[in-house]
Amino acid sequence: MNVTVVGTGYVGLVTGACIAEMGNTVYCVDVDPVKIANLKEGVLPIYEPGLDTIVVENHNSGRLRFTTSLPEAMEDSDVFFIAVGTPPGEDGSADMRYVQEVARQIGTHMTRPAIVINKSTVPVGTADQVREIITAQLEARGVEVEFSVVSNPEFLKEGAAVDDFMHPDRIVIGADCERARQVMSELYAPFIRNRPRTMFMGVRDAEMTKYAANAMLATKISFMNEVAGLCEKLGVDVENVRLGIGSDQRIGYHFIYAGCGYGGSCFPKDVKALISIAHQVDFEPKVLQAVEARNEQQKHSLFSKITTHFNGDLEGRTFCVWGLAFKPGTDDMREAPSVVLINSLINAGARVRAFDPVAHETARREFPAEWFDDGRLEIVGGQYEAAIDADAMVLVTEWKPFRHPDFKALKRLLKAPLILDGRNQYDPVQIKREGFEYYGMGRQPIL
Ligand code: NAD
Repeated sequence: MNVTVVGTGYVGLVTGACIAEMGNTVYCVDVDPVKIANLKEGVLPIYEPGLDTIVVENHNSGRLRFTTSLPEAMEDSDVFFIAVGTPPGEDGSADMRYVQEVARQIGTHMTRPAIVINKSTVPVGTADQVREIITAQLEARGVEVEFSVVSNPEFLKEGAAVDDFMHPDRIVIGADCERARQVMSELYAPFIRNRPRTMFMGVRDAEMTKYAANAMLATKISFMNEVAGLCEKLGVDVENVRLGIGSDQRIGYHFIYAGCGYGGSCFPKDVKALISIAHQVDFEPKVLQAVEARNEQQKHSLFSKITTHFNGDLEGRTFCVWGLAFKPGTDDMREAPSVVLINSLINAGARVRAFDPVAHETARREFPAEWFDDGRLEIVGGQYEAAIDADAMVLVTEWKPFRHPDFKALKRLLKAPLILDGRNQYDPVQIKREGFEYYGMGRQPIL
């Protein structure tokens, strides 16, 4: 098949590369000329395990092409994926201008029957909107071209995106015509040969499925963070509670880790968008509002513990931060708890020395340049280097090398043996034995 993917971010690039890997010819289009020029040279805009190899190999073989010109990319394609961003607007609703713009352009340049697939996460009713925009453009041109709009939400996880796309748990396809269902089945057949897991449903059902999935996962995290807060007050260790409840098969162990809040480009934005969707139809989303509020508070929890420990006196202190990405396996820092923590520390007069295995470049773009210039914020090349003469080590992202560190070296390097563990990675018994003071999330401090 000849496929065009519009938007070359986490979702678009992974979709394009994986579909090309299966033998299709794919055009990836983006409005960002630097991104496209770099991709042509084999330089990827994101870190994602395994992605560079399939991008470079498929590009070299001619199956994966990059362009900034949608008309060029549309010439031979029968299938168009829309994979542009749907960031939160000021009121929390999904900002649909990029999707609408792509729909307008598709309508302006479409010359042959096509299937237009919404892969972006979009509010219920977007497929109808996209159909109306394309139809209006075709009418304005005085041409008739047959097309269908399909909803095919993406469930990949950053950090495991290629693997998730290649071996999906399920493929959700909202389509209202047989031809579209058939083309989608053919396109995805190589990915599900041994595990046929395609779910066909209505277009609106598919659009809602994506929001409900992310909102459910965010709810599990916020619920556990609420339990953790209660555990701290009641002299309980949330880690034991987690193990105790996760063993119930109805609950399970996934997504019930207490921590310093969820971030990333999806959970925060999709929970906010679903709240806004609910308000638009006069529905009070009480659970979702609580999920969001708990998470906002949770992102400040490490800073609160630090402030309490130092009696509010952070001026001139230095903090070592391990982990900047919103989760391990990615360089994405969108809505990351590390950003909230670092902003709070520096605004309180402290200095930060941080290390992340891959997100160092993202971090340089995330914070004001003057913080780097005057030394308030340093991004260093190693986890132990970050600890030198710091008043405490704060673990924010649970990258593997942070899970079992050399505590003796850490203790030697820190000014004082204090750990704040935002992801409950450490065993309090061992921490005590090593002679550290310790704060976890939802457990009793060791002081
Ligand atoms: P992203 O910001 O990484 O990438 C979006 C890309 O679209 C950018 O490169 C941008 O330049 C490009 N773009 C914007 N307007 C364009 C236009 N008119 N023509 C061509 N390109 C254009 O976004 P992402 O993380 O890949 O997310 C895309 C969508 O997929 C969002 O709706 C998101 O919610 C959803 N999603 C994301 C993930 C994830 O883990 N990142 C997972 C599932 C679903």
